[in-house]
Amino acid sequence: GQLVVAVDGPSGSGKSTISRRVAQAVDARYLDTGAMYRAVTWAVLRDNVDLTDAEKIHAVAANVTLTIGTDPAAPHISVDGVGVDREIRGAEVTQAVSAVSAVPGVRARLVALQREIITEAARIVVEGRDIGTVVAPDADLKVYLTASADERARRRSTENAASQAATAADLARRDRLDSTRAADPLRQADDAVVLDTTAIGIDEVVERLQRMLDK
Ligand code: C5P
Repeated sequence: GQLVVAVDGPSGSGKSTISRRVAQAVDARYLDTGAMYRAVTWAVLRDNVDLTDAEKIHAVAANVTLTIGTDPAAPHISVDGVGVDREIRGAEVTQAVSAVSAVPGVRARLVALQREIITEAARIVVEGRDIGTVVAPDADLKVYLTASADERARRRSTENAASQAATAADLARRDRLDSTRAADPLRQADDAVVLDTTAIGIDEVVERLQRMLDK
């Protein structure tokens, strides 16, 4: 039957690593919704759109063609036929993504696309900020991942080679914007399993989730 696993949490909580590994373990597809918001942001920057102009940002989101792969072993995303896997992880996109993802029209388009992808895949692990609350409120399993601010900054700075202090400041800024915006802010679903990946570690989290899904 269909299996939908929703994985939400702030950046650096271990979401991507855990979601990909769980998807591989249970033979499911994988969808990184953060990559979709990042890809739209890349297009907004490409078009030199002012980040305070919600109408123009919405127009970019409405007109781009997003193609996203769902293989957990090899995630891939392109915008208007251009592969942007590396570009969407850069500092410029990371700086701008919270402003773009706060625009309600952007969210409406991406949530609709995400639901189509989920319906098409029989089994899928979906990671983001609003999966258990908005995108897939009927998910079979909802997971909310947390980690201490220090641990999250440490993980992100080793990924990006940025200083840990600069990364910590950027994460704090993004968390604040993502959890206080008017449209679909980051929050725990009432029925989510909450796991702190600082305390128990990523391997243990993957094993626990796999056990929950095997039952
Ligand atoms: O997960 P990642 O750090 O790549 O997400 C990038 C940004 O995309 C987040 O900071 C947030 O602004 C936005 N996002 C969102 N809703 C999602 C996934 C990501 O608003 N479901």
